[in-house]
Amino acid sequence: MNPIKGFWHYAKKVYGLHWRLKGVRDDRTQAKIPTEVVSATLFLGMLLRIGAFLQLEQESKRWGFQRLTGYAQIVHDDLLAYVCERYRVEDWRWVLVDVNRQLKKNKGLESAMINGLLVVALDANEQFHSDKRCCEACSQRRIKVKDSKGVEHEHIQYYHRQVYAHIQGPDCSVILDLEPIRPGEDECRAALRLLGRMRRMYGPRFFQVVTVDAWYTKGPFLLAVEKMGWGVVSVLKQEKYHINTMASLLQRRTACQELVEAKRQIKLWDIRHLDFTEEAMGKVRVVIADEKWEQNHRVGGTLQRQEEQSHWRWMATRKLDGYGAAVVWRIGHRRWGVENDAFNELTQHYHLTHCAHHHPVAILVCLLIKVLAFNLFEFYVKLNGKLWRVGRTTLREIARQMDLSMEQWEQLEPIWSG
Ligand SMILES: [Zn+2]
Repeated sequence: MNPIKGFWHYAKKVYGLHWRLKGVRDDRTQAKIPTEVVSATLFLGMLLRIGAFLQLEQESKRWGFQRLTGYAQIVHDDLLAYVCERYRVEDWRWVLVDVNRQLKKNKGLESAMINGLLVVALDANEQFHSDKRCCEACSQRRIKVKDSKGVEHEHIQYYHRQVYAHIQGPDCSVILDLEPIRPGEDECRAALRLLGRMRRMYGPRFFQVVTVDAWYTKGPFLLAVEKMGWGVVSVLKQEKYHINTMASLLQRRTACQELVEAKRQIKLWDIRHLDFTEEAMGKVRVVIADEKWEQNHRVGGTLQRQEEQSHWRWMATRKLDGYGAAVVWRIGHRRWGVENDAFNELTQHYHLTHCAHHHPVAILVCLLIKVLAFNLFEFYVKLNGKLWRVGRTTLREIARQMDLSMEQWEQLEPIWSG
C-alpha cells in the first residue's frame, strides 16, 4: 500500500485520528479556513518532519497534501501562526491522551511493564533559547560571553524548558504529556503539575511508578507523588550525605544479590529502614548496584573489548516495598530511554529545538502535535510495521517513503472519509 495512505488507514482504524482531529477547537470568531484543515495541515507537517511554517506553506501546495486535507488551496504560514495562538490547548492534550489510552487498551504497553508495573520516566528538556525574542512565558538567565577582543559581556538569554512524561519499552517509546516550566519556577513544581493533570486525564491506575533523576530526590516532591498513589524510584546523588553514609555503612552488613541482565553482571544491595533528610518521609530504602560489562572500543583502527563498570544508588519509596532489588534496578534504568531515544529522535528528526512561532500557546500546541505525530509514527512503524520488525529498514527511510508517496496523489483520499 502507498505508505502515507497506509499510515492514515492505521491511524483512523485503530485510533480514530480523523474524528479526534475534528474535535480540536480554536477561538477564532471568523474562521475562513475550517479548524480541522489547519489541524490536519499541522499534524501532517509534523509527521513529515517539517520544522518551519513557511516550509509547511510550501508543502500545502502539493496535490497529495491537498488531497489528504480535503482543502484545495495553500495554507499560509501567517494563518498557521494565528490559529496556533488561538487553539484550545486542552483539546490537543485530549487527542494525545486518548490515543495513548487506546494504545494501552490494545495491549501496546504490555511489553513495557516491569513485573506488572508500568513505569513513567520524568525528565526536563530545554527546547530552545534566544537572545532577542521574548514572550511572557520565557524563562531568563544571565550569561557571560566574550567578544572578539576577549572582553567579557553579560546579557540576558531567554529560554523555554518543559518536563516530559514518557514510557520507554523494548518495542517503542511513548510520550504521555509535557508541561512548560514557568519563569522562575522549580522543575519539581512543573513536574507535580504535570503528574496532577495526568492523574485527572489518564486516571490514577494508568501507570504505577514514576522514575526520576537526582534533581527530584527531595522530600516534598516524593511525598506528593506518594500521595497521588504512585511509587517513586529516584537517583541518589552523593550530595545527600547522611543517607549515603548510612547506606554505605549498612552495605557491608547486607547480603549481596548477583544477577546477569542486559549482558551486565550486577551486584545488588537492598538496604531498608534508612532515615531521609525530611522526617515526614519516614523510613526509606536504598538499592545499590555495581555493574560490569564488556564493550567494544576502536583503538588505533582495531576493535578491542574493554571492561566497563558503573555504580548506581536509587531511593525507592514505600509503595515498592513488596518488590525486590532487581525490580528497583530495572525501574531505575528505564529513565535512560528518555535521553537515549525520545529526545534524541525528536531533536534529530522532528526539529524539537526549532520554535515555529514564538508565542506561549503556539509553542505548547506545536509540541503537543509533534509528540502526537512522533507517538503515532512509532506505533505504526514499530508495533505494526513488518519491515521494521525484521530489521530491513530504518525509521528515516520509512519517513522518506511516506513523503515520496504523497506524489501519488491519485491514490490518496481525504482523511475525513470513512
Ligand atoms: Zn518565550
